[in-house]
Amino acid sequence: MKAKVNKDICIGCGACQAIAPDVFELEDDGLAVCTQEVIEEDKKEETEEAMESCPTGAIEIE
Ligand code: SF4
Repeated sequence: MKAKVNKDICIGCGACQAIAPDVFELEDDGLAVCTQEVIEEDKKEETEEAMESCPTGAIEIE
């Protein structure tokens, strides 16, 4: 599993970081980025939860 944040859509609300702090973080530009090249097995559930919780649908999972 891989996750990607579309920075054109992200509004920097921080929800993804709050839900999955090992997977997403806010950068200096105030927008989120995925910090894992491939999502660790035990982080998949919270990654999906973060995607579902993103208010703008900026997180893509493949
Ligand atoms: S939850 Fe969505 S809008 Fe909020 S910081 Fe994360 S990617 Fe950006």
